[in-house]
Amino acid sequence: MSLLTKCIGLAKKAKHRYQDSIQAHQPVYLSPVRRIDRVAAHERICAMTFDDGPCRLPANPDSFGGKPLTLHLAELLEKYDAKGTFDVVGDTSENYPDAAGAAGSASWGGIAYDHYPDFQKDQEGGVAHCPELIDRLLAGGHQITSHSWRHIIWGRKNVVYGKRRHMPGLDAVMEDLEKLDRVMKERWDYSIRLSRPPHYVDRIPGGFTSYDAYALMGYQYLGASFDGAGWLPLSGYEVEVAATIQPMEKLLDANPDGLCGQIIFQKDGFNMARRSPVADGLEKQLQLLTRLGYRVVTVDALLAHSPFSDITPDKADAQNAALLLAAGWCVAFRDNTLRPQTILTRGGLAQMAYGWEGAKKRVALIREKARPFSDLKASHPYAGACVIAAERCGLGEGRRFLPDAPATRADLRRVLTDRFGEAPEVIPEEPLTHSAFFALAAELTGERHESE
Ligand SMILES: [Zn+2]
Repeated sequence: MSLLTKCIGLAKKAKHRYQDSIQAHQPVYLSPVRRIDRVAAHERICAMTFDDGPCRLPANPDSFGGKPLTLHLAELLEKYDAKGTFDVVGDTSENYPDAAGAAGSASWGGIAYDHYPDFQKDQEGGVAHCPELIDRLLAGGHQITSHSWRHIIWGRKNVVYGKRRHMPGLDAVMEDLEKLDRVMKERWDYSIRLSRPPHYVDRIPGGFTSYDAYALMGYQYLGASFDGAGWLPLSGYEVEVAATIQPMEKLLDANPDGLCGQIIFQKDGFNMARRSPVADGLEKQLQLLTRLGYRVVTVDALLAHSPFSDITPDKADAQNAALLLAAGWCVAFRDNTLRPQTILTRGGLAQMAYGWEGAKKRVALIREKARPFSDLKASHPYAGACVIAAERCGLGEGRRFLPDAPATRADLRRVLTDRFGEAPEVIPEEPLTHSAFFALAAELTGERHESE
């Protein structure tokens, strides 16, 4: 491994540790867009995502007769009755003028922009140029998710990509996402439901983030919990192939259930050394998973099996919350946890009821530089939903909203009446928990799972 790639690996690790420590001290909010990294599952079920394709170029080294890499991956998955989630790009051919960076560096495929599958080979990749590969993936039952049209990072990322061009703001990000969404709908009648930002850069200039863009698109954020490796260049191909399987073997040796509910990150393309260890590594991974009785399913199927990351699908809270989720309520936190014993606040109640619509409202409030309440800034994650709750249910207190105050039975009655036209006769004692709310609202949707 070169010193540079070692540094990139270490920098990423340090960054993740730093982010973890920040996250531990930051409040987590209910959100219409949940980041799906993994789900809680007792069964041996997992998903695999493949970024940056489709790729018509053959694997490198090519031991597969010149077959397009994406086709090879699809056939391998199908051989093991597995379904993949292909996180595709639209077209990187407009990302010029540009120059190729040093081989083995993060800018190997372009200094100002990314180019897939390779610099000056943009016509061999992307949905726009490889519709036959999208046909093939859909015919094989694989899922398509959006990795954006041009794969331009959404905001500045100085550490690794200091010289990269990034998107100027939310409108440009939306235009790019809408393009891929529209092409998939028009050509394949296919609705995208999940998206992963290029290089996971979340901050968008203008005070917005990926979560705002996804809320406007109606998407969920596609994360991952397990690195299938293969993207980092090592000393040679065999070493890179081994790196795709060793961490998985180690994890499953220690605990054969260790991958239950996890989402594995892989690449449908070349690593920084312009090699594709996934072409040989994937079969070894699938052999191991099959031997242990794992089902590899699409991320959609994984979410249908278990929607949340902290509560398994056999629990009443998960079942009640899943009903509400399907009815458009925002019952889970941004990290896709349910945390049912949390005390329901007024802000939380507003967000649960009006979170989707509120996300649009919040974007408008930020753009207008509005201050909707004296105790709530426009940038607060619940600002839009609180404005709607005040308008529809009279849930404000003059200039104040009191978003952190526990929700009262009267607050709950007003919101349920607005959403369902009625409220239940009996409401539990205050303080109300999220769990109690799920049970009440699920009853009003017509189906309810009794607490175990
Ligand atoms: Zn990517």
